[in-house]
Amino acid sequence: MSNIIAIVGRPNVGKSTFFNRLVEKRKAIVDDFSGVTRDRHYGTGEWIGKHFSVVDTGGYVHGSDDIYESAIREQVLIAIDEATVILFMVDVTTGVTDLDDEIASLLRRSKKPVFMVVNKVDNTNLHIEATAFYSLGLGDLYPISSMTGSGTGELLDEVVKHF
Ligand code: GDP
Ligand code: MG
Repeated sequence: MSNIIAIVGRPNVGKSTFFNRLVEKRKAIVDDFSGVTRDRHYGTGEWIGKHFSVVDTGGYVHGSDDIYESAIREQVLIAIDEATVILFMVDVTTGVTDLDDEIASLLRRSKKPVFMVVNKVDNTNLHIEATAFYSLGLGDLYPISSMTGSGTGELLDEVVKHF
């Protein structure tokens, strides 16, 4: 499978919720030895006839903020290396955080397509607050609600154009 979507972002922004919505089936974890592999979930999905793999990162990271930071950094660098398209997920309810800033600076240097996905936009009132994320310098915003599915179709329409 050559079309790979990687979902990156700090903890609790809703990466796994979106992953679960996107995938048809989960793949078994192949290598259970490295920490990096344990922190990744793989699945496959399809949208308007295009098939892809999805990687959900950070699933099993526990510990202090320092450990989070280096683990997330590692996942972002792997995503930049292996993904066809990167979904950078942030949380409209918290606004821009320092960790969002740090991830954004790694992604701005990537040559891969990056989609700035603002999650938890559960109602139209939150659309205006989502605009705060333009400050991360990654271009267009895709406001979605992984919970209700709102906006996810528009996002996937654009993502699969890269496949
Ligand atoms: P992850 O750590 O990035 O994988 O985040 P999770 O998928 O585990 O979600 C973290 C929390 O955010 C959970 O309590 C989810 O139910 C909640 N959540 C995820 N997506 C949404 C959303 O679109 N709207 C709201 N209101 N909550 C969400
Ligand atoms: Mg998760």
